Amino acid sequence: MRLVLLGLPGAGKGTQGGRISEKQGIPHISTGSMIRAVIASGSKLGSVVDSYISRGHLIPDDIAIVMLKERLRMDDCSTGWILDGFPRTVAQAKHLDATLMQEGIKLDYAFDIRISEEEAIRRIEQRRMCRECGEAYHLLYYPPTQQKVCDKCSGELYQRPDDNRQTALQRLGVHMKQTHPVVHYYAQSGRLISINGEREIELVFAGVDIAFSLLLDTGCAGEVR
Ligand SMILES: [Zn+2]
Repeated sequence: MRLVLLGLPGAGKGTQGGRISEKQGIPHISTGSMIRAVIASGSKLGSVVDSYISRGHLIPDDIAIVMLKERLRMDDCSTGWILDGFPRTVAQAKHLDATLMQEGIKLDYAFDIRISEEEAIRRIEQRRMCRECGEAYHLLYYPPTQQKVCDKCSGELYQRPDDNRQTALQRLGVHMKQTHPVVHYYAQSGRLISINGEREIELVFAGVDIAFSLLLDTGCAGEVR
């Protein structure tokens, strides 16, 4: 199955993407990991991507699509994939559909992990990251066993400087304007699966998992509680 994950910042896309990947054996492809990998590969495309990133610029859509196309052609993507962080605009979503059609494949579903804006702000404020492995924790929903220590690698946990209320409000404003319409784009083509994200991580994953299994069985879109 080929999926994209949607949701406000703080909705838990990265965490849920990682879990689906583990359970279903398909790769979880976040924009960040894809950018790091293409730059590390030393390819021509990698140096083009690096020239934008190192100047702090956004990667133009046409280059992002080429990068994605190369990634999705890799062997591990043959039975499906989960995209996280792309598309961020309706233009990108349309571009993605057109590109996949050229490749003879299609995006099956968009999973929208729904949380309110107020909840998104609370979560961003309570997020802690591992300096070593990048694992994300949440002080309430996914706390580390030991304060300030990563369960996975014993690295130090910290709060990113931009994980505060003011920056969160700005990010949410941009998200609602640019990215939220992507939800409607997928709903219009009957591919939107809406998941209640305002629960503990385990319960959200149970919802994701049920949706995934139902879709494999029936191929019908809809809402999962
Ligand atoms: Zn760690």
